[in-house]
Amino acid sequence: MKNNNDKQVVSSKGNKKLVKCIVCGAIFDEDIDICPVCGVGREYFIPYEEEAVSYKKDTDESFIILGNGIAGISAAEAIRERNSTCKITLISKESVYGYNRPLLTKTLSSLERVDDILIYDKEWYEQNNINNILDMKIKKINKEEKSIEFIDGNTMKYDKCIYALGAKCFIPPFKGADKSGVIAIRDISDVLKVREEMKTAKNVVVIGGGVLGLEAAWELSKNAKVTVLEIADKLMVRQLDDMAGEILSNIITSAGIDFKVNANIIEISGNESVESVKLDTGEEYPAELVIISCGIRANINIAKEAGIETNRAIIVNDKMETNDKYIYACGDCAEFESINYGIWPEAMDMGKIAGANAAGDNIKYSLVAPTLTFEGMNTSLFSAGDNGKNPDLNYKYIEIFDKNKKQLEKYYFVDDKFIGTILIGDTKKMTTITEALNKKEPFNKFFNK
Ligand SMILES: Cc1cc2nc3c(=O)[nH]c(=O)nc-3n(C[C@H](O)[C@H](O)[C@H](O)COP(=O)(O)OP(=O)(O)OC[C@H]3O[C@@H](n4cnc5c(N)ncnc54)[C@H](O)[C@@H]3O)c2cc1C
Repeated sequence: MKNNNDKQVVSSKGNKKLVKCIVCGAIFDEDIDICPVCGVGREYFIPYEEEAVSYKKDTDESFIILGNGIAGISAAEAIRERNSTCKITLISKESVYGYNRPLLTKTLSSLERVDDILIYDKEWYEQNNINNILDMKIKKINKEEKSIEFIDGNTMKYDKCIYALGAKCFIPPFKGADKSGVIAIRDISDVLKVREEMKTAKNVVVIGGGVLGLEAAWELSKNAKVTVLEIADKLMVRQLDDMAGEILSNIITSAGIDFKVNANIIEISGNESVESVKLDTGEEYPAELVIISCGIRANINIAKEAGIETNRAIIVNDKMETNDKYIYACGDCAEFESINYGIWPEAMDMGKIAGANAAGDNIKYSLVAPTLTFEGMNTSLFSAGDNGKNPDLNYKYIEIFDKNKKQLEKYYFVDDKFIGTILIGDTKKMTTITEALNKKEPFNKFFNK
């Protein structure tokens, strides 16, 4: 774990060359060896050229940003870069400055202080004259009056509002899901609860075999016996194909973690505290701690009640505008062209675009191939783009598998265009692959580099 002095999230605006971390989207000087945000090494960095901010206009407007996650903070930063005199207020129901949420599961067993994972520290907000209202829940937006109302009844007016309230964990309606010791990890407060339970828990069940569930399983397995229960017929079903799923299953078993697919949970049982998880087959898994990792739901209720157009998330155009001209949305709560990514780099990019346009600039967001990385279980994994999941497409693929090393490289093409990949074991090529994917390179060009 890095300490606060290592933090250097702000990109250098001088002559230094910049790089972008493709895991978390952070931008920083190329001579830094470890990503100051997510801690990965150089192999994950790609050269980055920052576009100069050409639009500047100082005003006395008030910008209210709902949510102080990476989308909200990126929006605040983009506004301040264009407008040095306006009022910017970031609001969060959490009691801490915005932090690096992806690290919550990755540091479950080692995180000591939230200060170690803050995106920016207090001085940064002071230097940029960004006001933080913490520990305060927003209740509603009154778009006719251009104001927001807090849970305590107070209100605040805005000229422009950025809605960046993120998402919450989806909890399937399991009987007993409200028992003590059953936790879904979204906020730092959830991590503190897990840490407390970990002091005594000997058996842990993780419900959900997606990437976050597996990250949590790996961390928790350092202190307890862990079983992962997955309702689908394979792990990481959204990101992996059958073969990759099989390889990952073997890796997980070798790492000492049990798992069961096609696991249909009927009850989380116990008295006040959880004692076991029961399946419809009659199988029962003892557990003093249960982690639920079953996906997310965008926080859209406040927007919906205010009459902002929503689908699964808040509908935005490529400028992150909603159907109300004074309200922008970005990050995990926003959906562009029916896609709600729910990943950090996109929340960051959407936030930058929302902030820039709210300040009067005119920049546009374009879709990218979604990427996912996983480090744990003594392996690393990278998946990006479309890995053969659309039954209407005619895929071709190249597969290179080293059984002894448990390494897989798989490349998917449609109409000769590179559209998806899976790497297991050795992910060094992921930066070049990401670039090729975003260019949809033809087969020959990709393999003749
Ligand atoms: C455990 C975990 C691990 C992850 N790992 C990865 C990873 O490896 N790679 C990756 O790309 N992504 C990962 N993600 C997803 C990534 O963290 C999110 O995509 C990103 O944080 C979204 O940022 P955001 O600003 O849109 O929302 P959030 O970070 O959720 O911020 C929203 C903010 O709004 C606040 N808020 C919500 N409702 C209210 C209200 N009514 N009043 C006031 N404040 C409110 C919340 O408290 C929060 O501070 C992970 C997420 C989690 C939870």
